[in-house]
Amino acid sequence: MAISTTQIQSIIDLKLLDIKTRREGGDGRSNASIAEEVLGSRTAESTVRRVYKGYKDNGNYRGVGGSGSVGSLPNKFSHTPKVLFFDIETAPNKMHGWSLWNANFGLNQIVNEWFILSYSAKWLGSDEVFYEDMEGIVDTEDDTHLLDSLWKLIDEADVVIGQNSKAFDTKKLNARWIMNGYQPPSPYKQVDTLDIAKRKFAFTSRKLEWMTDKLCENKKLTHGKFAGFELWKECLLDNPEAWLEMKEYNMMDVVSLEELYLKLAAWDNKHVNFNLYTEENKHICRCGSHRVVEAGYAYTGVSKFQQYRCLDCGTTTRGRVNLFSKEKRKSLHMNVAG
Ligand SMILES: [Zn+2]
Repeated sequence: MAISTTQIQSIIDLKLLDIKTRREGGDGRSNASIAEEVLGSRTAESTVRRVYKGYKDNGNYRGVGGSGSVGSLPNKFSHTPKVLFFDIETAPNKMHGWSLWNANFGLNQIVNEWFILSYSAKWLGSDEVFYEDMEGIVDTEDDTHLLDSLWKLIDEADVVIGQNSKAFDTKKLNARWIMNGYQPPSPYKQVDTLDIAKRKFAFTSRKLEWMTDKLCENKKLTHGKFAGFELWKECLLDNPEAWLEMKEYNMMDVVSLEELYLKLAAWDNKHVNFNLYTEENKHICRCGSHRVVEAGYAYTGVSKFQQYRCLDCGTTTRGRVNLFSKEKRKSLHMNVAG
């Protein structure tokens, strides 16, 4: 059926209102009821679905419909770069399966695909923890408000830090963003605590649970009412108790992640240089501290540099000026390549 621009706009407005109402705990409405109101026929619900999908796929809806608050961002010109800790939880794919063991699934066995279920995030050094989830609208599988908020946070960040975030969180988000018509956020550097753990430590386990248990005051929460997959299952059934637990877990994850990062960071000799993102000429450590003292010298093949150590986290860095005199430099030999 041919529909007018006004009708398209009405359908979009009603769908966005519906999602907002559900998010706030109100009763949702069906596509059939929207079809009846706008198009005069309940059987035109497929048109409503198609219009809204087209609207979303065009990617021009970001920021429309009242996305969740991302809280107050730190001042762009403050002395620390914008370092964001974050963690997402995803809903599982729903599949048709034949077997419990050694199951392989074809694409045509997927019933519903995964989406973002919740996220938590915080800025380095800030007490404020952001959290949003799909409570009240989980059956719509429309994670737009989470995608919006996360896009804004990550777009704002100079450095993004997560546990296994290089392989999981950022790629999952990229997939949801591009599928929903978003452009990429501004480039950012990544620090992955799992990556530091792999390169520098032979821990018994590199799970966040194990590392925070052994190294941090703020430990990842482990035993709740809903064990393991039960928590996801109950959230998908929109159980408020399960959502509360998801919120507690997710928020604690990002708090313990920050503490773990501050423990591991000093050991990371491939770390992002925070000083590139500030206008100040005073050195700032990766832990946010300015308390850096001269501590011996660092040597490369044929050069000598002033070495520094952070009094707070113990990170060592070096200056970039070669301290050897012209005469000393002339006298130095080095290996021949080949
Ligand atoms: Zn430090």
